[in-house]
Amino acid sequence: MTTGFFSDERCFWHAGGNYAFTLPVGGLVQPVFGGLPENPETKRRLKNLMEVTGLLAELDRRGPAEVTREDLLRVHPASYLDEFKRLSDAGGGELGLRTPFARGGYEIATVSAGLAKAAVRDVVAGELPDAYALSRPPGHHCLPDFPNGFCLLANIAIAVEAARDDQGLGRVAVIDWDVHHGNGTEAIYYDRDDTLTISLHQEGNYPTDTGAVTDRGKGAGLGHNINVPLPAGTGHKAYLAAMDRIVLPALEAFRPDLIVVACGFDAAVVDPLARMQATAETFAQMTLRVKDAARRLCGGKLVLVHEGGYSEVYVPFAGHATIAALSGSSIEAPDPLAAAVAARQPRGRFDAFLLDEVERLAEEIFAEG
Ligand code: ZN
Repeated sequence: MTTGFFSDERCFWHAGGNYAFTLPVGGLVQPVFGGLPENPETKRRLKNLMEVTGLLAELDRRGPAEVTREDLLRVHPASYLDEFKRLSDAGGGELGLRTPFARGGYEIATVSAGLAKAAVRDVVAGELPDAYALSRPPGHHCLPDFPNGFCLLANIAIAVEAARDDQGLGRVAVIDWDVHHGNGTEAIYYDRDDTLTISLHQEGNYPTDTGAVTDRGKGAGLGHNINVPLPAGTGHKAYLAAMDRIVLPALEAFRPDLIVVACGFDAAVVDPLARMQATAETFAQMTLRVKDAARRLCGGKLVLVHEGGYSEVYVPFAGHATIAALSGSSIEAPDPLAAAVAARQPRGRFDAFLLDEVERLAEEIFAEG
């Protein structure tokens, strides 16, 4: 058995339109062509790179599962689904915040969720050891009734809840290393003790008002939500320290039956929507750590679901390093910016500050239990 790779061309056809928001267009601001930072190229170029190197041919390539109305209703209210479908049929538009879609966006979003659903289903069934789902649009910002931050459906929650109902899946840990806070996943599972949600993110980036370390869950879910808000500028060493000091001990304590990673590549050093300094090697090393934890804790059951990442040049290399690490492949796509990104890594007093911050967060998180 080899790692599964789930993709579908239709996901690359999701369109947000010429929707500029990084700067307010008007007045003296000339409109920006293709202003929506979330576009198909990062994802398509990742798949293309994997094809060129031969990595894609090593994997077990599969397509989406059908996502039924029942699958969607486990996470989203009927009122939202109906309004989304109506506007999608009518030509598209915007129902939330920074989440525009074109005609047919509803169907494409269900294909994206269907990739996550199929990946979780086949790993839980033991058909695949682990898997990567190249979902688009992403899912981790989507609230049950409010699309947000390019996310139209909560892909991971839809996949996990389907596997719970259909296959008796039990405890799930979701590690979100997209650079933005996984507020949607957090909200969906905030009061539940069957799902551990961990988000590593740039403090105060997006959303600006969520992701605090003190947000630990409520009711039965108290202690089952962990936020790791990292300072802008965090690089390779501090990301791995956060994995070793916070994520891995939390996984050990929780003992999941499945680990899912909300896998964004926007913590990379050249990403236009964040200010972090992770490298392709950082993502590979984080993947190896989670893979090792999955092997020890849950028979290796691990699914990575694609989220953000906005550098058309760098996402393919970060993604290739990640998927090669996941599958244990020896095929490499050498990081074309390796020397430059290594030279930019935090050093001296700033490096010490970042490592101290990880230590301080670890103490705060585990002191509260
Ligand atoms: Zn992101």
